[in-house]
Amino acid sequence: KVKVTNLKKNFGSNHVLKGIDFEVAQNEVVVLIGPSGSGKSTLLRCLNRLEDPTSGSVVIDGNDISDSKTNIDQARENIGMVFQHFNLFNNLTVGQNVELAPVELGKLSKSEAVTMAKKLLDTVGLDDKYDAMPQSLSGGQKQRVAIARALAMNPDIMLFDEPTSALDPEMVGDVLEVMKDLAKKGMTMVVVTHEMGFAKEVADRVVFMADGKVMEEGKPEEVFGNPQNERTKTFLQKVI
Ligand code: ATP
Ligand code: MG
Repeated sequence: KVKVTNLKKNFGSNHVLKGIDFEVAQNEVVVLIGPSGSGKSTLLRCLNRLEDPTSGSVVIDGNDISDSKTNIDQARENIGMVFQHFNLFNNLTVGQNVELAPVELGKLSKSEAVTMAKKLLDTVGLDDKYDAMPQSLSGGQKQRVAIARALAMNPDIMLFDEPTSALDPEMVGDVLEVMKDLAKKGMTMVVVTHEMGFAKEVADRVVFMADGKVMEEGKPEEVFGNPQNERTKTFLQKVI
């Protein structure tokens, strides 16, 4: 499904990704952890070419994302992304935020999009917010709208970059719950998060990154219960 091979990314002289090999299988939930600056966001952003890799390859569903011949817009339609800061369109209603992309890209008619948006808002627990403006929502509600908006394109894979890090603690649970439901429904997911409880409960595999490299990976019980790498041990002592 996703196959990243010897991926390197430099920002000038800063070697941020130093040869990453990383795979995600269909229906798999991978949680990516690691210290600040280790390259987690950069790796995610290389998956949908928000960053151009310096070298190496990123293949998603057989499409080489880093090949200039690949239609990146088309590839991106199948990759939903949710960021720490929700990036909603504040001049549009919640419903319009969710409907926008599929209508603009000609995937759905306006009326189909309305039906879809209401259904998605229902699944994220916001069926009563269809006509609301984003400013009137809490952070947790905004993030759930952002998830619904990403799902509106019916993506094959969802990427989450610290989706709960900007939220007040009491909002975190609702967002994680929505993500848990998505995982249960079989969505393929890559999640960067500091929520180790979520990782333990939901991840099929945990990948620990440090210094632009994958240091260790395995089932949550392996990585959390019996870490092999010194860097993993030190990191986990700090966050758990
Ligand atoms: P955090 O946990 O703090 O989000 P991270 O693991 O996501 O960290 P990245 O955001 O991938 O780390 O950053 C890794 C390194 O790449 C950092 O040194 C950062 O300064 C650098 N970097 C990231 N994006 C850019 C950019 N657009 N231009 C220059 N340097 C960048
Ligand atoms: Mg980051």
